[in-house]
Amino acid sequence: MLTLLILISVGLASAHHSGEHFEGEKVFRVSIQDEKQVHLMHVLANQVEVDFWKPDSVSQIRPESKTDFRVKAHQVDEVEHFLEEKGLTHEVLIHDLNKLVTNQFDSLIRSSGHSYEKYNSWEKIEAWTGQIAAENPKLVSRSVIGTTFEGRSLYLLKVGKAGSNKPAIFIDCGFHAREWISPAFCQWFVREAVRTYGTEIQITNILDKLDFYVLPVFNIDGYVYSWTKSRMWRKTRSTISGTSCVGTDPNRNFDAGWCEIGASSSPCAETYCGPTVESEKETKALVNFIRKNLNSIKAYVTIHSYSQLLLFPYSKNYALTKDHVELNNLAKAMVKELEALYNTKYTYGPGATTIYPAAGGSDDWAYDQGIKYSFTFELRDTGRYGFLLPESQIRPTCEETVLAIKYLSNYVLEHLY
Ligand SMILES: [Zn+2]
Repeated sequence: MLTLLILISVGLASAHHSGEHFEGEKVFRVSIQDEKQVHLMHVLANQVEVDFWKPDSVSQIRPESKTDFRVKAHQVDEVEHFLEEKGLTHEVLIHDLNKLVTNQFDSLIRSSGHSYEKYNSWEKIEAWTGQIAAENPKLVSRSVIGTTFEGRSLYLLKVGKAGSNKPAIFIDCGFHAREWISPAFCQWFVREAVRTYGTEIQITNILDKLDFYVLPVFNIDGYVYSWTKSRMWRKTRSTISGTSCVGTDPNRNFDAGWCEIGASSSPCAETYCGPTVESEKETKALVNFIRKNLNSIKAYVTIHSYSQLLLFPYSKNYALTKDHVELNNLAKAMVKELEALYNTKYTYGPGATTIYPAAGGSDDWAYDQGIKYSFTFELRDTGRYGFLLPESQIRPTCEETVLAIKYLSNYVLEHLY
């Protein structure tokens, strides 16, 4: 019976995708020691088509770090040969990408409708935003803060008990299309808030005293594209004249050292910063909303994956913020909360020094607007599944992350500014 259920769910799952397959594709992990090996990675990236999973592009690879990248089937042998010949320490992180693409839909829930423990298509998420607001009129309200390049509505959920002059925490998900666990978290978080309000003391107190603004999917066009055409899509879907390459990296598009470092001015790059700062309609909508509500927004949280990191400003340069000590202590405490549940290990610190510099990110921008508590989460895992985290990990991933957000919420309430 169980086998039958799995077969049914896998059968349904593969129907989500339009014939895209990853037969023979692999994800490599290479340990980079020095500048010479950094250079070799550039050589490799010029020779073959490489999809960088970590860091986001070849230009961000640094000595004494690891890089994960996906290689097309017909170039696997060439890559293996190159790595061997040049003496680069490597392993195959994912042997059978095609299998993982199918296995990400491993939830045993049979419902074909919206489910918190499954990855939901944009259509289901969109309907859910309306439904959760309608079912919880005293706690949740829905608004539209703009439209995407392709004309979809950017929904924002306000979660909290009615009251005046309440402080707020802004949380967004789904910046990068292929990071599916991220929108799953935003949905889970809203459900957890309405489910436990009135029974769980902490959540009740938090929602009585502050509001959450939750943007369930920021890069909706990209998310839709990752469902219908290309699972590994990352950027927006905007087009500009003069190139056939599509999309801007939304997390390089903000006014925070825009395009200065860790970003590309080439429209074909995965870290393309866009033709101008805030060129993306999605960026503009978010920026306008936050600017309008700067008086109330005390914390900004943006949810990405993968790597199990909790980052705070700056990423745009190596400078430490004036709030560094406080942010570092707060991040440490949030990580401790998160780890307590399933012993999931997180690393924390300022973006530039903890991973690599990358300008134009939303967390740096929010911080520079005066939102002191500004964080980027990189959720599970550390590379075994990467962007293809199975649905069976949605629950534990979201549960542990909620603990960190709860800690942050209480901290904000105790440290209003
Ligand atoms: Zn991301």
